[in-house]
Amino acid sequence: MTTAGSFNPFAMAQAQFDGVAELLGLDEATRQLLREPLREYSFAIPVRMDDGTHRVFRGFRVQHNDARGASKGGIRFHPQESLDTVRALAMWMSWKTAVVDIPLGGGKGGVICDPHHLSLREQEQICRGWVRQVARNVGPLLDVPAPDVMTSAQHMLWMLDEFETIHGGKYPGFITGKPVGLGGSLGRTEATGYGVVYTLRDALERLGIEARGTTASVQGFGNVARHAIELFARLGGTTVCVACWDQADQTSYSYRRASGIDLDELRGITDRFGGIDRNKARDLGYEVLDGGAWIEQQVDVLIPAALENQINADNVTSIAPSVKVIAEGANGPTTPEADAEIRRRGIFLLPDFLANAGGVTCSYFEQVQSNMNYYWERDEVLRRLDRKMTAAFEGVVELAESRKLYMRDAAYVIAIDRVAQACHDRGWV
Ligand code: NAD
Repeated sequence: MTTAGSFNPFAMAQAQFDGVAELLGLDEATRQLLREPLREYSFAIPVRMDDGTHRVFRGFRVQHNDARGASKGGIRFHPQESLDTVRALAMWMSWKTAVVDIPLGGGKGGVICDPHHLSLREQEQICRGWVRQVARNVGPLLDVPAPDVMTSAQHMLWMLDEFETIHGGKYPGFITGKPVGLGGSLGRTEATGYGVVYTLRDALERLGIEARGTTASVQGFGNVARHAIELFARLGGTTVCVACWDQADQTSYSYRRASGIDLDELRGITDRFGGIDRNKARDLGYEVLDGGAWIEQQVDVLIPAALENQINADNVTSIAPSVKVIAEGANGPTTPEADAEIRRRGIFLLPDFLANAGGVTCSYFEQVQSNMNYYWERDEVLRRLDRKMTAAFEGVVELAESRKLYMRDAAYVIAIDRVAQACHDRGWV
Protein backbone atom coordinates (compact mmCIF):
# COMPACT_ATOMS: atom_id res chain seq x y z
CA MET A 1 0.00 0.00 0.00
CA THR A 2 2.92 2.38 0.55
CA THR A 3 5.57 1.68 -2.04
CA ALA A 4 5.45 4.43 -4.61
CA GLY A 5 4.30 2.21 -7.50
CA SER A 6 1.48 0.40 -5.73
CA PHE A 7 0.16 3.06 -3.36
CA ASN A 8 -3.62 3.03 -3.32
CA PRO A 9 -5.14 5.94 -1.39
CA PHE A 10 -8.58 4.34 -1.35
CA ALA A 11 -7.22 1.17 0.28
CA MET A 12 -5.56 3.45 2.83
CA ALA A 13 -8.77 5.41 3.46
CA GLN A 14 -10.67 2.16 3.90
CA ALA A 15 -8.02 0.75 6.24
CA GLN A 16 -8.29 3.89 8.37
CA PHE A 17 -12.08 3.61 8.34
CA ASP A 18 -12.03 -0.10 9.28
CA GLY A 19 -9.89 0.59 12.32
CA VAL A 20 -12.26 3.26 13.58
CA ALA A 21 -15.38 1.23 12.75
CA GLU A 22 -13.92 -1.40 15.07
CA LEU A 23 -13.25 1.20 17.78
CA LEU A 24 -16.82 2.48 17.46
CA GLY A 25 -18.30 -1.01 17.25
CA LEU A 26 -20.26 -0.10 14.10
CA ASP A 27 -22.70 -2.70 12.84
CA GLU A 28 -21.94 -4.55 9.61
CA ALA A 29 -24.46 -2.71 7.40
CA THR A 30 -23.15 0.71 8.47
CA ARG A 31 -19.60 -0.44 7.78
CA GLN A 32 -20.58 -1.63 4.32
CA LEU A 33 -22.37 1.63 3.59
CA LEU A 34 -19.56 3.88 4.75
CA ARG A 35 -16.52 2.04 3.38
CA GLU A 36 -17.71 2.52 -0.23
CA PRO A 37 -19.06 5.63 -2.00
CA LEU A 38 -22.83 6.04 -2.32
CA ARG A 39 -22.45 6.99 -6.01
CA GLU A 40 -19.69 7.42 -8.53
CA TYR A 41 -19.55 8.76 -12.05
CA SER A 42 -16.75 8.09 -14.50
CA PHE A 43 -17.11 9.70 -17.91
CA ALA A 44 -15.43 10.84 -21.11
CA ILE A 45 -14.85 14.52 -21.89
CA PRO A 46 -14.18 15.00 -25.60
CA VAL A 47 -12.35 18.24 -26.38
CA ARG A 48 -11.37 19.88 -29.64
CA MET A 49 -7.81 21.01 -29.07
CA ASP A 50 -6.33 24.30 -30.32
CA ASP A 51 -4.58 22.51 -33.19
CA GLY A 52 -7.91 21.15 -34.46
CA THR A 53 -7.37 17.56 -33.28
CA HIS A 54 -9.67 15.91 -30.73
CA ARG A 55 -8.70 14.40 -27.39
CA VAL A 56 -10.82 12.53 -24.92
CA PHE A 57 -10.16 13.17 -21.22
CA ARG A 58 -11.47 11.01 -18.37
CA GLY A 59 -13.48 12.75 -15.66
CA PHE A 60 -14.80 11.56 -12.32
CA ARG A 61 -17.24 12.57 -9.62
CA VAL A 62 -17.64 10.48 -6.50
CA GLN A 63 -20.31 11.16 -3.86
CA HIS A 64 -19.21 9.26 -0.81
CA ASN A 65 -21.98 10.19 1.60
CA ASP A 66 -24.68 12.85 1.79
CA ALA A 67 -26.59 11.85 4.93
CA ARG A 68 -25.58 15.13 6.65
CA GLY A 69 -26.17 17.38 3.61
CA ALA A 70 -25.25 17.92 -0.04
CA SER A 71 -21.94 16.34 -1.07
CA LYS A 72 -19.02 18.75 -0.99
CA GLY A 73 -15.54 18.49 -2.41
CA GLY A 74 -13.03 19.79 -4.91
CA ILE A 75 -12.18 18.89 -8.48
CA ARG A 76 -8.55 18.09 -9.24
CA PHE A 77 -6.78 18.26 -12.58
CA HIS A 78 -3.86 15.86 -12.45
CA PRO A 79 -2.09 13.57 -14.95
CA GLN A 80 -2.01 10.75 -12.36
CA GLU A 81 -5.61 11.19 -11.25
CA SER A 82 -7.42 7.88 -10.70
CA LEU A 83 -10.85 6.78 -9.61
CA ASP A 84 -9.37 5.31 -6.43
CA THR A 85 -7.72 8.62 -5.54
CA VAL A 86 -11.03 10.40 -6.04
CA ARG A 87 -12.85 7.77 -3.95
CA ALA A 88 -10.40 8.22 -1.09
CA LEU A 89 -10.63 11.99 -1.24
CA ALA A 90 -14.45 11.82 -1.33
CA MET A 91 -14.46 9.65 1.78
CA TRP A 92 -12.10 12.04 3.56
CA MET A 93 -14.48 14.88 2.66
CA SER A 94 -17.32 13.11 4.47
CA TRP A 95 -15.17 12.94 7.59
CA LYS A 96 -13.93 16.48 7.13
CA THR A 97 -17.36 18.11 6.87
CA ALA A 98 -18.47 16.03 9.85
CA VAL A 99 -15.48 16.80 12.08
CA VAL A 100 -15.99 20.56 11.66
CA ASP A 101 -19.73 19.95 11.97
CA ILE A 102 -20.99 21.69 8.85
CA PRO A 103 -24.23 20.43 7.27
CA LEU A 104 -22.64 18.91 4.16
CA GLY A 105 -21.48 15.48 3.01
CA GLY A 106 -18.43 14.24 1.13
CA GLY A 107 -17.67 14.22 -2.58
CA LYS A 108 -14.70 14.69 -4.90
CA GLY A 109 -14.03 15.03 -8.59
CA GLY A 110 -11.16 14.96 -10.98
CA VAL A 111 -9.97 14.90 -14.55
CA ILE A 112 -6.94 13.01 -15.83
CA CYS A 113 -5.11 15.85 -17.57
CA ASP A 114 -2.01 17.96 -17.25
CA PRO A 115 -2.85 21.67 -17.29
CA HIS A 116 0.85 22.42 -17.84
CA HIS A 117 0.30 21.27 -21.43
CA LEU A 118 -3.16 22.74 -22.02
CA SER A 119 -4.11 26.22 -23.15
CA LEU A 120 -6.72 28.16 -21.17
CA ARG A 121 -9.25 27.53 -23.94
CA GLU A 122 -8.63 23.79 -23.75
CA GLN A 123 -8.98 23.88 -19.95
CA GLU A 124 -12.25 25.79 -20.33
CA GLN A 125 -13.55 23.06 -22.65
CA ILE A 126 -12.62 20.40 -20.06
CA CYS A 127 -14.47 22.35 -17.34
CA ARG A 128 -17.57 22.76 -19.47
CA GLY A 129 -17.42 19.14 -20.63
CA TRP A 130 -17.10 17.93 -17.03
CA VAL A 131 -20.26 19.84 -16.06
CA ARG A 132 -22.20 18.63 -19.11
CA GLN A 133 -21.57 15.02 -18.06
CA VAL A 134 -22.81 15.40 -14.47
CA ALA A 135 -25.12 18.44 -14.63
CA ARG A 136 -28.12 16.38 -13.48
CA ASN A 137 -26.28 14.78 -10.60
CA VAL A 138 -24.70 17.86 -9.02
CA GLY A 139 -26.11 21.23 -7.91
CA PRO A 140 -26.65 23.47 -4.89
CA LEU A 141 -28.96 20.95 -3.23
CA LEU A 142 -27.11 17.80 -4.34
CA ASP A 143 -23.38 18.16 -4.68
CA VAL A 144 -21.30 21.32 -4.54
CA PRO A 145 -17.82 21.19 -6.16
CA ALA A 146 -14.85 23.47 -5.43
CA PRO A 147 -11.28 24.01 -6.66
CA ASP A 148 -8.45 21.68 -5.70
CA VAL A 149 -5.03 20.78 -7.07
CA MET A 150 -4.44 22.66 -10.34
CA THR A 151 -7.96 24.12 -10.56
CA SER A 152 -8.77 27.73 -9.74
CA ALA A 153 -11.53 30.31 -9.37
CA GLN A 154 -11.52 30.71 -13.15
CA HIS A 155 -12.24 26.99 -13.62
CA MET A 156 -15.09 27.24 -11.12
CA LEU A 157 -16.60 30.19 -12.96
CA TRP A 158 -16.55 28.33 -16.29
CA MET A 159 -18.20 25.38 -14.57
CA LEU A 160 -20.85 27.61 -12.98
CA ASP A 161 -21.52 29.27 -16.31
CA GLU A 162 -22.04 25.90 -18.01
CA PHE A 163 -24.28 24.69 -15.18
CA GLU A 164 -26.42 27.85 -15.34
CA THR A 165 -26.64 27.60 -19.12
CA ILE A 166 -27.88 24.02 -18.89
CA HIS A 167 -30.35 24.68 -16.07
CA GLY A 168 -31.49 28.12 -17.24
CA GLY A 169 -31.10 30.20 -14.09
CA LYS A 170 -28.62 31.68 -11.64
CA TYR A 171 -27.31 29.10 -9.16
CA PRO A 172 -24.25 30.64 -7.51
CA GLY A 173 -24.56 28.07 -4.70
CA PHE A 174 -23.72 25.29 -7.19
CA ILE A 175 -19.97 25.68 -6.81
CA THR A 176 -17.56 27.39 -4.44
CA GLY A 177 -14.13 28.93 -4.80
CA LYS A 178 -15.59 31.39 -7.33
CA PRO A 179 -13.93 34.76 -7.96
CA VAL A 180 -14.81 37.41 -5.40
CA GLY A 181 -17.43 39.69 -6.98
CA LEU A 182 -18.88 36.78 -8.96
CA GLY A 183 -20.23 34.79 -6.03
CA GLY A 184 -16.94 34.07 -4.28
CA SER A 185 -16.35 34.65 -0.59
CA LEU A 186 -13.69 36.89 0.79
CA GLY A 187 -11.24 34.79 2.79
CA ARG A 188 -11.75 31.63 0.70
CA THR A 189 -8.30 31.74 -0.93
CA GLU A 190 -6.47 31.86 2.37
CA ALA A 191 -8.96 29.71 4.32
CA THR A 192 -7.21 26.33 4.09
CA GLY A 193 -3.72 27.57 4.91
CA TYR A 194 -5.05 29.82 7.67
CA GLY A 195 -7.13 26.97 9.04
CA VAL A 196 -4.01 24.79 9.25
CA VAL A 197 -2.34 27.49 11.32
CA TYR A 198 -5.39 28.15 13.53
CA THR A 199 -5.23 24.50 14.59
CA LEU A 200 -1.44 24.61 14.80
CA ARG A 201 -1.68 27.65 17.09
CA ASP A 202 -4.18 25.79 19.30
CA ALA A 203 -1.97 22.68 19.34
CA LEU A 204 1.14 24.63 20.36
CA GLU A 205 -0.86 26.32 23.08
CA ARG A 206 -2.10 22.95 24.30
CA LEU A 207 1.50 21.71 24.39
CA GLY A 208 2.58 24.80 26.31
CA ILE A 209 4.83 25.96 23.46
CA GLU A 210 5.06 29.64 22.63
CA ALA A 211 4.39 29.98 18.87
CA ARG A 212 6.79 32.90 18.65
CA GLY A 213 10.25 31.53 17.90
CA THR A 214 9.11 28.15 16.55
CA THR A 215 10.34 26.90 13.18
CA ALA A 216 8.63 24.96 10.41
CA SER A 217 9.46 23.01 7.27
CA VAL A 218 6.77 22.84 4.61
CA GLN A 219 6.24 20.53 1.67
CA GLY A 220 4.49 22.40 -1.14
CA PHE A 221 4.46 26.05 -2.13
CA GLY A 222 0.95 26.31 -3.51
CA ASN A 223 -2.20 27.84 -2.13
CA VAL A 224 -2.30 25.95 1.15
CA ALA A 225 1.42 26.15 1.90
CA ARG A 226 1.80 29.86 1.19
CA HIS A 227 -1.10 30.97 3.34
CA ALA A 228 0.01 28.67 6.14
CA ILE A 229 3.52 30.15 5.94
CA GLU A 230 2.07 33.68 5.94
CA LEU A 231 -0.08 33.22 9.04
CA PHE A 232 2.60 31.17 10.82
CA ALA A 233 4.96 34.13 10.34
CA ARG A 234 2.34 36.46 11.83
CA LEU A 235 2.30 34.25 14.93
CA GLY A 236 6.04 34.77 15.17
CA GLY A 237 7.09 31.47 13.59
CA THR A 238 9.81 31.05 10.97
CA THR A 239 9.61 28.73 7.98
CA VAL A 240 13.10 27.55 7.13
CA CYS A 241 12.44 25.11 4.30
CA VAL A 242 9.87 24.57 1.53
CA ALA A 243 9.72 21.82 -1.07
CA CYS A 244 7.97 21.90 -4.42
CA TRP A 245 7.74 20.27 -7.80
CA ASP A 246 10.08 21.34 -10.59
CA GLN A 247 8.26 21.07 -13.88
CA ALA A 248 11.38 21.32 -16.04
CA ASP A 249 13.29 18.58 -14.18
CA GLN A 250 10.20 16.48 -13.40
CA THR A 251 11.30 16.08 -9.81
CA SER A 252 10.94 17.93 -6.53
CA TYR A 253 13.47 20.08 -4.66
CA SER A 254 13.65 21.57 -1.19
CA TYR A 255 14.70 25.18 -0.66
CA ARG A 256 16.28 26.01 2.67
CA ARG A 257 17.41 29.17 4.40
CA ALA A 258 18.24 28.84 8.07
CA SER A 259 17.27 32.46 8.82
CA GLY A 260 13.85 31.86 7.28
CA ILE A 261 12.44 31.94 3.79
CA ASP A 262 11.05 35.21 2.47
CA LEU A 263 7.51 34.49 1.34
CA ASP A 264 7.19 37.44 -1.06
CA GLU A 265 10.63 36.85 -2.53
CA LEU A 266 9.89 33.18 -3.23
CA ARG A 267 6.40 33.98 -4.48
CA GLY A 268 8.00 36.31 -7.01
CA ILE A 269 9.97 33.41 -8.57
CA THR A 270 7.18 30.83 -8.51
CA ASP A 271 5.15 29.75 -11.53
CA ARG A 272 1.36 29.52 -11.48
CA PHE A 273 1.55 25.85 -10.44
CA GLY A 274 3.56 26.54 -7.28
CA GLY A 275 6.95 25.54 -8.72
CA ILE A 276 9.96 27.66 -7.68
CA ASP A 277 12.60 28.76 -10.21
CA ARG A 278 15.64 26.84 -8.96
CA ASN A 279 18.37 29.04 -10.39
CA LYS A 280 16.79 32.26 -9.16
CA ALA A 281 16.34 30.71 -5.71
CA ARG A 282 20.01 29.81 -5.63
CA ASP A 283 20.92 33.38 -6.65
CA LEU A 284 18.81 34.65 -3.75
CA GLY A 285 20.84 32.56 -1.32
CA TYR A 286 18.66 29.50 -0.84
CA GLU A 287 20.26 26.10 -0.50
CA VAL A 288 18.72 23.79 -3.09
CA LEU A 289 18.35 20.29 -1.65
CA ASP A 290 16.70 17.14 -2.88
CA GLY A 291 12.92 16.90 -2.75
CA GLY A 292 12.87 14.72 0.36
CA ALA A 293 15.02 17.07 2.49
CA TRP A 294 12.05 19.05 3.83
CA ILE A 295 11.14 16.18 6.15
CA GLU A 296 14.63 15.89 7.68
CA GLN A 297 14.84 19.47 8.96
CA GLN A 298 15.57 20.27 12.61
CA VAL A 299 12.34 22.19 13.16
CA ASP A 300 9.44 22.26 15.61
CA VAL A 301 6.70 21.82 13.03
CA LEU A 302 6.31 19.88 9.78
CA ILE A 303 3.57 20.94 7.38
CA PRO A 304 3.06 18.54 4.47
CA ALA A 305 0.98 20.66 2.08
CA ALA A 306 1.53 19.14 -1.36
CA LEU A 307 0.27 15.62 -2.08
CA GLU A 308 -0.79 12.32 -0.54
CA ASN A 309 1.67 9.55 0.50
CA GLN A 310 4.54 11.89 1.39
CA ILE A 311 5.31 10.66 4.92
CA ASN A 312 5.65 6.92 4.59
CA ALA A 313 7.52 3.89 5.90
CA ASP A 314 10.60 4.88 3.87
CA ASN A 315 11.10 8.38 5.28
CA VAL A 316 9.24 8.60 8.60
CA THR A 317 12.36 7.67 10.55
CA SER A 318 14.18 10.69 9.12
CA ILE A 319 11.89 13.09 11.00
CA ALA A 320 14.18 15.01 13.37
CA PRO A 321 13.81 14.60 17.16
CA SER A 322 13.07 18.34 17.39
CA VAL A 323 9.69 17.93 15.63
CA LYS A 324 6.79 18.39 18.05
CA VAL A 325 3.82 18.90 15.74
CA ILE A 326 2.88 17.66 12.28
CA ALA A 327 0.08 19.72 10.76
CA GLU A 328 -1.28 17.99 7.68
CA GLY A 329 -2.22 20.62 5.10
CA ALA A 330 -2.42 18.08 2.25
CA ASN A 331 -4.97 15.31 2.04
CA GLY A 332 -3.65 11.88 2.98
CA PRO A 333 0.04 12.83 3.29
CA THR A 334 0.77 10.16 5.92
CA THR A 335 0.50 6.41 5.39
CA PRO A 336 -0.72 4.10 8.20
CA GLU A 337 2.81 2.70 8.66
CA ALA A 338 4.21 6.20 9.15
CA ASP A 339 1.29 7.02 11.44
CA ALA A 340 2.28 4.16 13.75
CA GLU A 341 5.79 5.60 14.08
CA ILE A 342 4.57 9.18 14.64
CA ARG A 343 2.26 7.91 17.33
CA ARG A 344 5.03 5.84 18.94
CA ARG A 345 7.26 8.90 19.08
CA GLY A 346 4.51 10.98 20.63
CA ILE A 347 4.60 13.69 17.97
CA PHE A 348 1.39 15.75 18.17
CA LEU A 349 -0.50 15.15 14.94
CA LEU A 350 -3.07 17.48 13.42
CA PRO A 351 -4.79 15.09 11.01
CA ASP A 352 -5.55 16.25 7.48
CA PHE A 353 -9.32 16.29 7.62
CA LEU A 354 -9.21 18.46 10.74
CA ALA A 355 -6.18 20.65 9.94
CA ASN A 356 -7.13 21.42 6.34
CA ALA A 357 -10.88 21.74 6.92
CA GLY A 358 -10.64 25.53 6.71
CA GLY A 359 -11.17 25.37 2.95
CA VAL A 360 -14.38 23.43 3.10
CA THR A 361 -15.60 25.45 6.06
CA CYS A 362 -15.12 28.66 4.11
CA SER A 363 -16.66 26.96 1.05
CA TYR A 364 -19.68 26.31 3.21
CA PHE A 365 -19.71 30.00 4.19
CA GLU A 366 -19.45 30.86 0.50
CA GLN A 367 -22.38 28.60 -0.30
CA VAL A 368 -24.46 30.18 2.47
CA GLN A 369 -23.62 33.67 1.18
CA SER A 370 -24.30 32.64 -2.44
CA ASN A 371 -27.66 31.18 -1.54
CA MET A 372 -28.54 34.36 0.42
CA ASN A 373 -27.00 36.52 -2.30
CA TYR A 374 -25.50 38.62 0.48
CA TYR A 375 -21.78 38.69 1.19
CA TRP A 376 -19.83 39.16 4.41
CA GLU A 377 -16.72 41.21 5.09
CA ARG A 378 -13.39 39.33 5.09
CA ASP A 379 -12.92 39.82 8.84
CA GLU A 380 -16.29 38.30 9.54
CA VAL A 381 -15.49 35.26 7.37
CA LEU A 382 -12.14 34.70 9.06
CA ARG A 383 -13.58 35.22 12.53
CA ARG A 384 -16.23 32.60 11.87
CA LEU A 385 -13.58 30.30 10.38
CA ASP A 386 -11.31 30.62 13.40
CA ARG A 387 -14.24 29.88 15.72
CA LYS A 388 -15.23 26.76 13.74
CA MET A 389 -11.68 25.42 13.53
CA THR A 390 -10.99 26.03 17.21
CA ALA A 391 -14.24 24.34 18.24
CA ALA A 392 -13.40 21.32 16.06
CA PHE A 393 -9.85 21.16 17.44
CA GLU A 394 -11.11 21.34 21.04
CA GLY A 395 -13.62 18.55 20.43
CA VAL A 396 -10.97 16.27 18.95
CA VAL A 397 -8.24 16.98 21.48
CA GLU A 398 -10.61 16.50 24.40
CA LEU A 399 -11.71 13.11 23.10
CA ALA A 400 -8.09 12.16 22.39
CA GLU A 401 -7.11 13.02 25.95
CA SER A 402 -10.09 11.48 27.70
CA ARG A 403 -9.95 8.21 25.74
CA LYS A 404 -6.17 8.16 25.26
CA LEU A 405 -6.57 8.12 21.49
CA TYR A 406 -4.16 9.17 18.77
CA MET A 407 -5.38 12.50 17.35
CA ARG A 408 -6.22 11.00 13.97
CA ASP A 409 -8.28 8.27 15.60
CA ALA A 410 -10.08 10.76 17.83
CA ALA A 411 -10.97 12.92 14.82
CA TYR A 412 -12.18 9.84 12.97
CA VAL A 413 -14.26 8.67 15.92
CA ILE A 414 -16.06 12.04 16.07
CA ALA A 415 -16.54 12.31 12.31
CA ILE A 416 -17.54 8.73 11.55
CA ASP A 417 -19.86 8.63 14.52
CA ARG A 418 -21.64 11.77 13.24
CA VAL A 419 -22.04 10.37 9.70
CA ALA A 420 -23.13 6.93 10.98
CA GLN A 421 -25.65 8.61 13.27
CA ALA A 422 -27.11 10.63 10.38
CA CYS A 423 -27.46 7.40 8.33
CA HIS A 424 -29.17 5.70 11.27
CA ASP A 425 -31.46 8.67 11.97
CA ARG A 426 -32.55 8.70 8.33
CA GLY A 427 -33.29 5.00 8.56
CA TRP A 428 -30.73 4.02 5.89
CA VAL A 429 -29.13 1.29 7.98
P1 NAD B 1 -1.44 23.77 -5.36
O1 NAD B 1 -1.59 23.15 -6.69
O2 NAD B 1 -1.71 25.21 -5.19
O3 NAD B 1 0.04 23.51 -4.82
C1 NAD B 1 0.62 22.26 -4.76
C2 NAD B 1 2.08 22.42 -4.39
O4 NAD B 1 2.65 21.13 -4.21
C3 NAD B 1 2.92 23.12 -5.46
O5 NAD B 1 3.82 24.01 -4.84
C4 NAD B 1 3.69 21.98 -6.11
O6 NAD B 1 4.94 22.40 -6.63
C5 NAD B 1 3.88 21.07 -4.90
N1 NAD B 1 4.18 19.68 -5.27
C6 NAD B 1 3.55 18.91 -6.18
N2 NAD B 1 4.12 17.70 -6.23
C7 NAD B 1 5.13 17.71 -5.35
C8 NAD B 1 6.10 16.77 -4.94
N3 NAD B 1 6.14 15.54 -5.46
N4 NAD B 1 7.00 17.14 -3.98
C9 NAD B 1 6.96 18.37 -3.45
N5 NAD B 1 6.07 19.29 -3.80
C10 NAD B 1 5.17 18.98 -4.72
O7 NAD B 1 -2.34 22.89 -4.37
P2 NAD B 1 -2.99 23.32 -2.98
O8 NAD B 1 -4.33 23.87 -3.25
O9 NAD B 1 -2.03 24.11 -2.19
O10 NAD B 1 -3.23 21.86 -2.32
C11 NAD B 1 -2.17 21.16 -1.68
C12 NAD B 1 -2.75 19.99 -0.89
O11 NAD B 1 -3.74 20.46 0.02
C13 NAD B 1 -3.46 18.90 -1.70
O12 NAD B 1 -3.28 17.67 -1.06
C14 NAD B 1 -4.91 19.31 -1.61
O13 NAD B 1 -5.77 18.20 -1.83
C15 NAD B 1 -4.96 19.78 -0.19
N6 NAD B 1 -6.06 20.69 0.11
C16 NAD B 1 -6.25 21.86 -0.57
C17 NAD B 1 -7.29 22.69 -0.22
C18 NAD B 1 -7.48 24.02 -0.87
O14 NAD B 1 -8.39 24.76 -0.43
N7 NAD B 1 -6.67 24.41 -1.85
C19 NAD B 1 -8.18 22.31 0.80
C20 NAD B 1 -7.96 21.13 1.49
C21 NAD B 1 -6.89 20.33 1.13
